[in-house]
Amino acid sequence: MKTDLFIAGKWTEASSKERFDVVDPATGDVIAEVANGGEADAIAAVEAAAAAGPGWAATPARVRSEVLRKAFELMTERSGELAKLISLENGKALVDAKGEVTYAAEFFRWFAEEAVRAEGTIGSAPSGANRILVVRQPVGVCVLVTPWNFPAAMATRKIGPALAAGCTVILKPASDTPLTALAMAAILAEAGVPDGVVNVLPSRSSGKTVGAMLRDPRVRKLSFTGSTEVGRLLLAQAAENVVNTSMELGGNAPFVVFADADVDAAVDGAMIAKMRNGGEACTAANRFFVEEPVAEEFARKLSQRMAALVVGPGTDEGTQVGPLVNEDTVAKVDSLVKGALDGGAEAVTGGARPDGPGFYYPPTVLTGVPADAPILREEIFGPVAPIVTFTGEAEAVRLANDTEYGLVAYVYTQDLARGLRIGEAVEAGMVGLNRGLVSDPAAPFGGVKQSGIGREGGHEGLLEYLESKYIAVNW
Ligand code: NAD
Repeated sequence: MKTDLFIAGKWTEASSKERFDVVDPATGDVIAEVANGGEADAIAAVEAAAAAGPGWAATPARVRSEVLRKAFELMTERSGELAKLISLENGKALVDAKGEVTYAAEFFRWFAEEAVRAEGTIGSAPSGANRILVVRQPVGVCVLVTPWNFPAAMATRKIGPALAAGCTVILKPASDTPLTALAMAAILAEAGVPDGVVNVLPSRSSGKTVGAMLRDPRVRKLSFTGSTEVGRLLLAQAAENVVNTSMELGGNAPFVVFADADVDAAVDGAMIAKMRNGGEACTAANRFFVEEPVAEEFARKLSQRMAALVVGPGTDEGTQVGPLVNEDTVAKVDSLVKGALDGGAEAVTGGARPDGPGFYYPPTVLTGVPADAPILREEIFGPVAPIVTFTGEAEAVRLANDTEYGLVAYVYTQDLARGLRIGEAVEAGMVGLNRGLVSDPAAPFGGVKQSGIGREGGHEGLLEYLESKYIAVNW
C-alpha cells in the first residue's frame, strides 16, 4: 500500500515528516498513516509539474494516448485489488467499488481515444483580408481537487483529459480517501507517465496546500469536484491569478414520476439513482416527486426494495449498502431525517440510526415530507428517499426547479413528448429520461446554477484542458 507523497516520479515523505490517519468507516479503526503534504510540498509538486510541462505537451498525441490506454489496461487487470482498497477506505459495498473501478478506468480509455482529437480549424476572415487559424494548446499546470465519494473515478475523470490534452497535474485527493489516489499514481507511473507529469499530494490541511498552489503563477487551471461551499471559496481564490476553473459541485436531484409512468421501471430506476454508492453521490436522487395517482404504489414498492437491502461492512461479499464515510456524514443524515419526522413526515422504512460501531444508516423512505423540510433543500448524501406528491406538469417543473442546484434530474413517463418537454424545462446539466443512471465517460457531465461550471467526459471534457489560440495569417 502506497502512503507517501508522489512528486516528480518519486515517493517521498512530507517535508514536515507529518502523517495523518486514514480510517475504516466500518469500524472506525486506523488502516494507514499517510504523509501529510504541506505548503512546501505543494510548491515542490508545482515545480515538478511545471518542469515536466513542455516535454509532455510536445509528446505526440498518439504516444500520450498509448500511455492512457496502458493505464486503462492496468486498472482493469487490477480491478479486484483496487476495489478492495476503495471499499476499505471509503466504506462502500464491494459491488459499488467494482462498479467504480470499471467506470474510472473507462475515463482513461475514453480519453486515450480523445487524445488524438484535439483538432483546430482554419477559415477565412469575413473581410477576406487574412486566414483565421485556430490551434488548441494545453492549458498548462493543473491542480485537481477531488472528493471522497468516488476516490478513483473523480481522479481519472480529471487526469484522463488533462494528460490527453498535454497538461501536467497535481492531484490533491480527499483526506478521507488518499490511498486509492496513491495506488493510481503507481499505475500511471507503470503505464509510462513521465516523472512530474502526475503528482499526488495527500494533505490534511487542504485549505493551505491548495491555496499555496493557486497563488503560484505557474498554475493555470483548477479542476475541483466537491461541495458548493468549498467550490465557492476556491473560485474566489482562483480569481486572484485569473486561473481557469472547472467546478463540479453539489446536487439536489429531483426524481419525477408521472402517473403514466411504468411504476416498476421507475422503482428500478429509483434504486439506482438513490442507492448507487449508498446514496453518497452528487447525482443521487434527493427529492422524489410522484404524481398523486401512483404515489402510494411507488412508495410501497420502493420501501419494499429498500428494506430488503443487505447493510454491512463494505468489504463483506454480499453487502449491498456499506457504512457512510464518516461520523459527520451520518450525523447530518440523521439530523435531516429527524427534522422531516418532526415536521410530520412518516418513515415507511428505516428512519433511525442504529446503535453500535461504524457509520451506518439504514435505507429509509419518507412520505408526507413537508415542503419546507431541510431534507428537500440540502444534499442528503445518504440512503434516504423523501417522497412528495404533485399534480400536473407545471407543478412538477416548479418543484424540480425549486433549488439552487442544477446537476441532474430524473423523469419517468411513457409519453416521450412529455418526457422531452420536461427534460428541456428542468434546470439541470443532465437528465435521465426513464433512466436512473446518467454517468458515462462518453457524455458531458456537469451542472448549471450552483452545481458548477464546465463539463467532464465526452469531447467537452477534453476541451476544458485546452486553450484555443488564434493566429491571423496573411496569405
Ligand atoms: P468537500 O467540498 O468537503 O471536499 C472536496 C475536496 O476539497 C477534498 O479534497 C477536500 O479535502 C478539499 N477541500 C476541503 N476544503 C478545502 C479548502 N478550504 N480549500 C481547498 N480544498 C479543500 O466535498 P466532499 O465532502 O469531499 O464531497 C462531497 C461533495 O462533493 C458533495 O457536495 C457532492 O455533491 C460533491 N460531488 C460533486 C460531484 C460532481 O461531479 N458534481 C461529484 C462527486 C461529488
